[in-house]
Amino acid sequence: VKLRCPICGREYDRPVQRCECNEPVEFELLNGEPYIGKTIWERFYDFWPVEPALELSLGEGDTPLIKSKLGEELGVRLYLKNETVNPTWSFKDRGTFLAMSYALKAGYKTVGTVSTGNMAASVSAYASRFGLNAKILVSESASNEKLKAVSVYGADVIRVKGDYGRLYFESLKLGESLGIYFMNSDNPFRVEGYKGIAFEIAEEVTPDYVLIPTSSGGLFRGVAKGFIELKESGLIEELPTLVAVQAEGCSPICRAFKEGKEKIERFERPKTIAKAIANPYPPSGNAVLKLLREFGWLCVAVSDDKIREAQRKLAGEGLFVQPASATGIAALRKLVEKGRIEEGAKVVSILTGSGLRTLSQAKGGTIRECPLESLENCLR
Ligand SMILES: [Zn+2]
Repeated sequence: VKLRCPICGREYDRPVQRCECNEPVEFELLNGEPYIGKTIWERFYDFWPVEPALELSLGEGDTPLIKSKLGEELGVRLYLKNETVNPTWSFKDRGTFLAMSYALKAGYKTVGTVSTGNMAASVSAYASRFGLNAKILVSESASNEKLKAVSVYGADVIRVKGDYGRLYFESLKLGESLGIYFMNSDNPFRVEGYKGIAFEIAEEVTPDYVLIPTSSGGLFRGVAKGFIELKESGLIEELPTLVAVQAEGCSPICRAFKEGKEKIERFERPKTIAKAIANPYPPSGNAVLKLLREFGWLCVAVSDDKIREAQRKLAGEGLFVQPASATGIAALRKLVEKGRIEEGAKVVSILTGSGLRTLSQAKGGTIRECPLESLENCLR
């Protein structure tokens, strides 16, 4: 298989992570057919560019697609793809598992990533599982609370003082010279792992719209590539309309899309409760922009208030997600109100990660106290 640049088209037959033009690279479209197998890795065996290390899987993927009651309120048929049930509570595990399978096969002893949240925990956990060392580079401001959930797996966690945006590129450069395989947000294997979300959705429903919380752009590119490969292989007839969802307080992709720009620009002073999607200069931003234009897809930014409201609505249905994961529902409401999504449409929203990781931001319910003697009264 070959890697190519989605922006300039240059091709590579060695495992580079970014193009000479500085954009991400991705594997060529893989044409396959589904096998009969137990896991997503087996059923779609032909669609992965590297042999998945099945014996080391932690059971990532094959997450439930839940019919949501919130759809009735909005006049659509709504399904929730619950990625919070992955081994480290987010969709990142799919990409980590595939990238780690490659790193092991390629003979790396050490892997790494740049993250403070979901991805850091995921790489840390899978490195332990795979018997590899992990270097996790985090920003200076990362809270001890958050880092505890990363270091518990035994990774070497390093707080880096300096520009967090530059860290992504520095880590790739140093990784190459030091023999550390950095699997950052839009690493080509990671993006391939996210295709599984599209495959699993297509096994169950034929969606008209898929709502995707979008930060670095890795998840969006993966889900898009998954649907495109299904279509190229003749397994689905039509592509759904994909919707990249960002928080208003950090929406570099939506802004460039709206202004008709070809390249994204750094979003100054990002401010949103949806921390997991608050990348001010997404490394796959231009690649996402190109997909949105090519297929006539949508980009929607939502406010923190609407995100909080959506988070509460989901909790009201038994699903506690982090603010970033509630943005899809907030965007759906906006699109329905604007008449951009028609009545009766089949919509899937991806719930990317668990609310337990951002517990301090959550607004809890009420808690009462009751003396044992008056328990009967309290219960009435
Ligand atoms: Zn290029």
